[in-house]
Amino acid sequence: MRPLVAHISLSALAHNLAQVRRFAPGAKVMSVVKANAYGHDLIHAAQGLKDSDGFAVLNLSEAIALREAGILHPLLLLEGVFSPEQLEAVDHYALDIVIHHEAQLDWLANATLQRPIRVFLKLDSGMHRLGFRPQAFLQARQRLAKLPQVSEIVQMTHFANADRVDGISSAMSVVADTMDTEFSLSLANSAAIVQHASTHAGWVRPGIMLYGASPIASQSAASFHLQPVMQLQSALIAVQTLSAGDSVGYGSLFTATQTMRIGIVACGYADGYPRHAPTGTPIAVNGVMTRTLGRVSMDMLAVDLVNVPDAQIGAAVELWGAQVPVDEVAIACSTIGYELLCAVAPRVPKQFHG
Ligand SMILES: *Cc1c(COP(=O)(O)O)cnc(C)c1O
Repeated sequence: MRPLVAHISLSALAHNLAQVRRFAPGAKVMSVVKANAYGHDLIHAAQGLKDSDGFAVLNLSEAIALREAGILHPLLLLEGVFSPEQLEAVDHYALDIVIHHEAQLDWLANATLQRPIRVFLKLDSGMHRLGFRPQAFLQARQRLAKLPQVSEIVQMTHFANADRVDGISSAMSVVADTMDTEFSLSLANSAAIVQHASTHAGWVRPGIMLYGASPIASQSAASFHLQPVMQLQSALIAVQTLSAGDSVGYGSLFTATQTMRIGIVACGYADGYPRHAPTGTPIAVNGVMTRTLGRVSMDMLAVDLVNVPDAQIGAAVELWGAQVPVDEVAIACSTIGYELLCAVAPRVPKQFHG
C-alpha cells in the first residue's frame, strides 16, 4: 500500500455535533450525511453522529444503506423522490421526504402507503433553486394537510447567503410572511447555526461544521470550537536536491533560485488533491508547516524541505487535518473545504478511530 491514508475521528464528529447543540440548544439536529458524509464514509459517520435526531441524505440508496446498517433514526431525502415509484421504498424504509415541486405532491397524493410519512415542504426563500414560491407554498401546505399519506408537515427552506452576516434578512421576511407557527420549521444550515440564532427553531440541518470545517470563509473552524474529522496523511517517497535553475514537475512551474531540498509526497489529483493547488499551498512535513511546489501530478506532489532539514524518505506529511486546516488549503486553491473533503477519491483508504 502507498502511505496515503484518510484518518477519520469519530470522537471529533461527536464533539462537533455537541457544538451544534451548544449553538442551537433547543433544536432537533438533522445531520447532513450526503456525498458519503462529505467524503468521510456514510455509515461510519452516522455511527459517530449517532446522537443526532435524524440524518439527511440525497439518494434513496444512501437511506437504504443506513437502514441496512441498523440506523433507526428519521432519515430525510433532501430532494425528495425523483419518480413516483420511489415512494414504495420511502414507505418500506419509513423515510421522510422533501417536497419541493408540484409533481412530487401529485405523486404522493396518488400513492398508497402503509403508514403516513413526514414531509418537509420546501419554500423558495430567494435562492431560486428548489422550492415553492410563497403563494404556491401556501396552497401546497393546505393540500398536504388534508392528505392521509402525511403524518406531519415541516416547513423548510434553504438560505442562499447564510454565510454573510446580513445574508438572511430578505429570506427571513419571506419565511415570516409564509410559514405558519402551527407547523414546525427547518431553516438552518451550518452557517445559519453559527451566526443566525433566529433560524434555529425546529430542525437544524448542519453539514460542513460536523466535519470540522468552517461554514464562514472569514472565520476558522477553531474559532467555532470545531475539530477536524479527517486527517489526510501521507509520507515522502523521495527526496531531491535541486540546484539553482532546476525545476520540478510537469510544466516546470517551480524553479529553484538556490540549492534546496525538496520532497515528493504520495498524493496527487487522482486522490482528490486539487490539481490547481498553486506553489505555496500549505502542507506539513514532520510536523513543520511548509508549502507545495509546482504542479500537482496524478499520484504525487512536491514540497519544500528547506525548513525541514531532517526530513527523509518516510517522513510524515499532513495534506490537511489538525495542523493544516482544510479551509486554508481550500483558500490557497480558490475553493471551499466542502469541495476538498467531498473529492477525496475512493482509492484513498480510510482508517476510523474512536
Ligand atoms: C447540504 C445541505 C445542508 C447542509 O449545509 P452545510 O452548509 O454543509 O451545513 C443543509 N440543508 C440542505 C437542504 C442541504 O442541501
